[in-house]
Amino acid sequence: MYQNFGIMRPASALVSEAYTMSSKVVVLDIDDVLTITREKVYEAMRAASGKDIHWQHWSEYDLRLRFEMTHEDIMDVFNSHDIINQVDPEPDAAPFINLCRDAGYRVVALTARGWHPDADLHTWAYFERYQLKVDELHICTPVECKSDYIRQLGNVHLYVDDHLRHIMNVREKTDNVRHLVLMDRPWNQTEEPIERVFQLSECQRFL
Ligand SMILES: [Mg+2]
Repeated sequence: MYQNFGIMRPASALVSEAYTMSSKVVVLDIDDVLTITREKVYEAMRAASGKDIHWQHWSEYDLRLRFEMTHEDIMDVFNSHDIINQVDPEPDAAPFINLCRDAGYRVVALTARGWHPDADLHTWAYFERYQLKVDELHICTPVECKSDYIRQLGNVHLYVDDHLRHIMNVREKTDNVRHLVLMDRPWNQTEEPIERVFQLSECQRFL
């Protein structure tokens, strides 16, 4: 079942118990930060809608408007295409997570995958499959505010997300994040002065 903002810890031997000792936290979004979700979403939406609009042309991320489908229909498309399991990881995802852990950071994945009823089980299995040694996973729904969770985390050294809404909410509603970083994607272009990276490995400079 979907667990709102629950702390879920895997039984996997991949994950060290040492994170409980660490107060240094790195928070990473999953889709289009750790994974190349945009490619699978593009392919799935093209197949379902007949509209071929590549993600490089998505100037914002509202799929409902672009593909003229309801939220429920889009979720059905995501599920029928098994998006959360089929996405490929970004090549630098595992190395960057390992780098963070080696530097003593606790790595928290914070995702709005709450649209999927078993997002936690699938995502932990995915992490294990691709050797993404995430310490904690927190799941909210797409309409919830990630800042509500981040505020509870204590001192967050780095938070990376590709959605401008989450970054702006965290900037406005929290004061415990040292480096707030937007993963540059076509749908998050803005005049706002926000730190940007084009790939996760660039975040090494913040550690
Ligand atoms: Mg994302």
